[in-house]
Amino acid sequence: MRRLIIAGNWKMNGDLADAEVLTTMVKNGVANLSGLEMVICPPSLFLFPLSEIIGKNLKHISLGSQNIYHEDKGAFTGEISGAMIKKICRYTIIGHSERREYFGEDSEDVSDKTKAAIRNKIIPIICVGEKKKTAESYKDAAKELKRDLKGVDKSDYAKLVVSYEPVWAIGTGRAATPEYAAKAITLIREVVGLKTPVLYGGSVDAENIAGFTRRAEIDGALVGGASLKAKEFIKICENAVKSKSFA
Ligand code: PEP
Repeated sequence: MRRLIIAGNWKMNGDLADAEVLTTMVKNGVANLSGLEMVICPPSLFLFPLSEIIGKNLKHISLGSQNIYHEDKGAFTGEISGAMIKKICRYTIIGHSERREYFGEDSEDVSDKTKAAIRNKIIPIICVGEKKKTAESYKDAAKELKRDLKGVDKSDYAKLVVSYEPVWAIGTGRAATPEYAAKAITLIREVVGLKTPVLYGGSVDAENIAGFTRRAEIDGALVGGASLKAKEFIKICENAVKSKSFA
């Protein structure tokens, strides 16, 4: 179901004390915002302690992992499965460009992990996006998504979230324009259909978020660096909510 989602990808940053403070601050900071689903994706080690801070009863804030393995259990040293985290994670990021680049993940891995997430009733946030910007490069993300979804049942597409993340915009301070992101997302929707939430990610901050979320095509954001600063992340959520209600 389409809805406003702001997800924070903390990557491999902070220690447990930082994670607890940040989670408590953002949880309290968005307590009065309605019409928003906020997702925190901390390092896996922190998922359990943070789930105690978030508690079981909140609908508008939840945890996501940054990755899962495609098998549910077995001799896979160092891996964490969907089956292990499903009680505390509503979401998992899959196919982030850093996983594809540094860990060699390809579309087959993304497809297998997507199926594992769905099997365990975890919502996959599938990241797609082109590496370099050219006049036509916004078309590449939809093609990548088509490859990533090979073998995934079409009837499951409404259970996914997709994040359009042009790699050239990640961590560079050079966000795509909302118009450019909307063009890529329109093509992504031709692949997944109209029920799947599609986010934008890449150098989102409190100043530029509304430009993205006020557009009908864009259902929210996956935020990296700015999600590590409590005040900035809360402001992103506030501005996103405001922009959707004025749309
Ligand atoms: C990301 O890593 O998914 C991301 C969008 O990072 P940043 O917001 O820092 O560009």
